[in-house]
Amino acid sequence: MFFRQLFDHDSWTFTYLLADEQSREAVIIDPVLDQMSLYQRLMDEYDLTLKYAIDTHVHADHVTALGALRDELGAVTIHGEGSKAACVSRFVTDGEAITFGSCHLKALATPGHTDDSYSYYLEADGKRLVFTGDTLLIRGSGRTDFQNGDAGAQYDSLFGKLLALPDDTIVYPAHDYKGMNESRIAEERVHNPRLQVADKAAYVELMGNLKMPPPKFMDVAVPANLECGRG
Ligand code: FE
Repeated sequence: MFFRQLFDHDSWTFTYLLADEQSREAVIIDPVLDQMSLYQRLMDEYDLTLKYAIDTHVHADHVTALGALRDELGAVTIHGEGSKAACVSRFVTDGEAITFGSCHLKALATPGHTDDSYSYYLEADGKRLVFTGDTLLIRGSGRTDFQNGDAGAQYDSLFGKLLALPDDTIVYPAHDYKGMNESRIAEERVHNPRLQVADKAAYVELMGNLKMPPPKFMDVAVPANLECGRG
């Protein structure tokens, strides 16, 4: 499988480009509108056809490239069921497969950061990868204080779904602010401070006491992203 991790400096967002080596069909996860020219160039350089553009959730910190990738490259846009972005053409449900060439991304409903948060799991070349959006971050987890966030639901997503994946699964989040690019499920179980709680009530209390300022671009990004970045 072809794989590249890309980074947007302004929003600290990781974007993932995956492709089947034979068919050259590609998928992009969490693309940023400001990086559109990079994506177009890479599709040419790597000789890929973009089949799907996926957002793990409606982002509050950057404007998505989903609409631009649909219009410029013909990608089918994907959100998880529950998303209010009516511009999206395919809404996947828990357990559903997204197929490109011989590769299959499995959608995992992981609400909590937002009510539309999904993660995507893939097995390829003897490796296991999970794209966790803002649900599971490296040594952290996404805030749950806006966009219908729910710390109790996030606890269930983290402990019931993501930590249930095989220990060697490589964790690729939507952001990192501390200089790390990837992690492992086993590593997060031990070293992630948000996961060292006794039970769901303790997690809800922890998340309720974070008192973070709102994201800088939230008032612009959320309405724009409900229009796939074309609003
Ligand atoms: Fe987010």
